[in-house]
Amino acid sequence: MAENKKVVITRKKTRYMNKNQSLYHLIDTVKLWPSRKGVLHGVKSVIKKGEMIIVTTHCGETFEVYDSKNSRSSRWLRNRWCVEPCQKCHVPAWKIKKYSETIFTNSVGRSRK
Ligand SMILES: [Zn+2]
Repeated sequence: MAENKKVVITRKKTRYMNKNQSLYHLIDTVKLWPSRKGVLHGVKSVIKKGEMIIVTTHCGETFEVYDSKNSRSSRWLRNRWCVEPCQKCHVPAWKIKKYSETIFTNSVGRSRK
């Protein structure tokens, strides 16, 4: 009678992210990259390399940025200043939606209010 099948249904609508995460963690989670032109690119891969991270977008751009939580891209991501998804990246709508519903907070982890 034992129910061995472990059904994990944790369909949380809202994703919480700590504001003070590194840029690497941020990019690795949302898989989106905000360009200076205000376009949101889909991230194909993000590799940590010392103090730098190497980001590759789906439209074929690769660049190195400092893994700083206070960088422009971190702020742009947290503040959602990019709204227009890249056409070439074909960012799926659900990803944009999930990103738009992500709450950036200081109290992620042990005590979630
Ligand atoms: Zn793109």
